[in-house]
Amino acid sequence: MKTRLALIAAACLATIACSDTSTDTPGRINPLLGEWDTPFGVPPFDKIASEDYLAAIRAGMEAQNREIEAIVTDAEAPTFKNTVEALELSGALLSRARRLFNAVNNAHSNDVLKDTGETIAPELAAHDDNILLNKELFERVLAVYENRNSLHLTDEQRRLLDERHKKFVRAGANLPDEAQDRLREINAELAELEQAFRNNVLSETNEYELLVTDEADLGDLPASLVALAAEEAKRRGHDCECWSFNTQRPSTEPFLQYSPNRELRKQLFNAYAMRGDNDNDADNKAIVSRSVQLRAEKAALMGYDNHAEFVLAENMAENPENVYGFLAEIWEPALRVARQERADLEAMMKADGIDDRLRGWDWRYYTEKVRLAKFDLDDDALRPYFEVNAVRDGVFALATELFGLQFERREDLPTWHPDQQVFEVKEADGSHLAILYMDFFARESKRGGAWMNALRPQSNVNGFVTPIITNNFNFPAPTADSPSLISLENAETLFHEFGHALHGMFSDVAYRSLSGTSTPRDFVEYPSQVMENWMRTPEVLGMFAKHYETGDPMPTEVVEKINASATFNQGFKTVELVAAAYLDMAYHTLETTEAVEPRAFESAAMADIGIIDEIIPRYRSGYFQHIFSSNYSSGYYSYIWSEVLDADTFMAFKEIDVLDKETAARFRKEILSKGGTRPGMELYYNFRGRKPSIEPLLEKRGLN
Ligand SMILES: [Zn+2]
Repeated sequence: MKTRLALIAAACLATIACSDTSTDTPGRINPLLGEWDTPFGVPPFDKIASEDYLAAIRAGMEAQNREIEAIVTDAEAPTFKNTVEALELSGALLSRARRLFNAVNNAHSNDVLKDTGETIAPELAAHDDNILLNKELFERVLAVYENRNSLHLTDEQRRLLDERHKKFVRAGANLPDEAQDRLREINAELAELEQAFRNNVLSETNEYELLVTDEADLGDLPASLVALAAEEAKRRGHDCECWSFNTQRPSTEPFLQYSPNRELRKQLFNAYAMRGDNDNDADNKAIVSRSVQLRAEKAALMGYDNHAEFVLAENMAENPENVYGFLAEIWEPALRVARQERADLEAMMKADGIDDRLRGWDWRYYTEKVRLAKFDLDDDALRPYFEVNAVRDGVFALATELFGLQFERREDLPTWHPDQQVFEVKEADGSHLAILYMDFFARESKRGGAWMNALRPQSNVNGFVTPIITNNFNFPAPTADSPSLISLENAETLFHEFGHALHGMFSDVAYRSLSGTSTPRDFVEYPSQVMENWMRTPEVLGMFAKHYETGDPMPTEVVEKINASATFNQGFKTVELVAAAYLDMAYHTLETTEAVEPRAFESAAMADIGIIDEIIPRYRSGYFQHIFSSNYSSGYYSYIWSEVLDADTFMAFKEIDVLDKETAARFRKEILSKGGTRPGMELYYNFRGRKPSIEPLLEKRGLN
């Protein structure tokens, strides 16, 4: 207890806002500002109130300001330790509060958290700018940087120094005062726009409802999803035998796959595709236009032709030409295959007696039929083998097989939502590796998609700090009658996010800012996408895919069909993905700061690449959160770029054995443990002994 109080005092020392850091209860101390006496130092979610974050983040900023002040007023000449490392270690309190806030605000938000997000975003942007545009601090870093060759630094220290220096330069530290002031304004406005964009997508998604009152319109929708839709209708206050669908992917996607009612499919498809583009309070068009303008202006200030050039200079891909060249290599074959798929689907629709051309809302429905005809595989029949906890156990079993990891459920640790599961992850010898939280189910308080967070990244400066990692999903929640039975694609998502988790958990570096998933954008999806490859293999399906009622293993012929169907519909899937990457690049290679009209701009960008009408980009402008409310702008191509790396990596296993332990050990050592301590291409070379080849990707997607 003593140390705890001492730490709180230290955190609050000389903080003007100290008295504000507790919430209304007299004598209550904001847990975000104290030391945590929980097992493994996990966050005390049961004690943290939503109101605590704002005060903690503000106190964290003040604490870091004092730490920075101590660095710049240090009478000693700048050294790696008293400047670069001291800067790296500063802001621990802020970093912890900020990570927690982002994680909880994404996974289980409420009005207080949303308000906090909006309030704090510009303050944090200004705070980050204040550090990076601090002249005295930059001068000290520069002094160390200029002496870098005579300092006898370790490779990682050298990397930290290079990265820190680059970060200052890229933040405008070399710019004249006036340009720096403008940069601050731009960053603050962009941060606000990102938050507003996110809130608009959330409200558009929650607002919409498709109420189905005729059971026939559900078609062959899996029973678990029918039950979920019925519960949702009740929750929304409908007193009828009816089913409610919305524009969250896990609700929209299956409805489009199964409902024979073409008109309803059209309604839901359009509602999904028009989010953020309805000329209402939650419209995102003005935000898109303004964001693109500001980014172009910023790139020009920094001496780049456009935003993409500025961003890509940091990435493995290096520049827009490389990205466009790479996308083109995939686009043409993908479009050719998608046209073939369209012909198959349209023939089927004609056979259904519908005299029209195929539309966007028909694609998934007839794809499901073609899949049934070609592979006799329907999602409904597969779902009973993919009970969510069984899939989780499958990915755990794979990690045990490859890396010897052990997973122990911990019911005693606090969570941010009762559905969240917590595990202690141990090495083969039983030593502690990490804590892993898994939060599987969709709910209104959670943003869409699936993602990983590090609540506490691994580091090793003054002692080894073990990682605390979360995985988050939007799978259908269990109902009164059925556990959560997820689709094949969902199962793949689970493996994907677990790959990010491994990247975080295996991290073995010194510095927090180079740890785990702190890698360039076009490298970070690689370790996660690699994991997807294992999910469909007979070896891994054999580990977990058992019928949830009977316990029977998935029949061999089904496993074979899953593998045979791996290249199925890949024309469509590749086209929607690559189209979104092109859309991202189109916005961010703009070299003018004139306003764009997103609807027309997107149409023109899609016409430019010759997309077919029946396919829309995986994300349209109005809800492209990766690039307008997350930091993937000019980076969406990374998913497919990473897939080149992942397909080529999985090939390294297949050449020997998909469960080969030696290759796994090398993969862990050269890639998963290294975080961002070396450039991606160098890490890759160390693992594979050569540069990545694109062929395994084209083969995997059936595009060769
Ligand atoms: Zn990912």
